[in-house]
Amino acid sequence: MAKKVKKPQKSNEKLAKIEKNIRSTLQILGENPKREGLLDTPKRYAKAMEFLTSGYTNDIDQIVGDALFQENSSEIVIVRDIELFSLCEHHLLPFYGKAHVAYIPNGLSKIPRIIDAYSRRLQVQERLTTQIAEELVRILNPLGVAVILEASHLCMMMRGVEKQNSYTVTSSMRGVFREDPMTRSELMDLLGGLGNTRR
Ligand SMILES: [Zn+2]
Repeated sequence: MAKKVKKPQKSNEKLAKIEKNIRSTLQILGENPKREGLLDTPKRYAKAMEFLTSGYTNDIDQIVGDALFQENSSEIVIVRDIELFSLCEHHLLPFYGKAHVAYIPNGLSKIPRIIDAYSRRLQVQERLTTQIAEELVRILNPLGVAVILEASHLCMMMRGVEKQNSYTVTSSMRGVFREDPMTRSELMDLLGGLGNTRR
């Protein structure tokens, strides 16, 4: 009980501090934070940031719960096109795209929520890829896991730098996907069209 009362207060305190900072940032940028359109912007921004970094407080074991199930198969299972939104820690701007996860059983149905838990933080794409792969290895103890992220980085696109690299593909392989070239090439055939993946 006491815990439940305490938590929102802490959050409100945090939100109020962010609001204050954003109001002053708007002023520094030459805006009038008191004009109608901006009046609630610091509050909305603080709430958005709280949501976009909520992954820090997610408990993966709780998310996964009893969703683990055994599969009597050693075929590659692929979960493709999982929506991915994260924040680049260098510019606090979004990067977004798709995640593809492959594993050789055991199976798990909560993969998108695990991806959310790690992407709703300040991130760099390479670390995010590795963290998802390592978490899946920890909870699945599988024969192999492959995580491939394709993402566009607004911090590059909006600032007009490295436009040709603003779309980035990263991958992280564990177990048989790393050790066995045949299995890896089978995976790449199944995924098709992603190309240019790097470890
Ligand atoms: Zn950036």
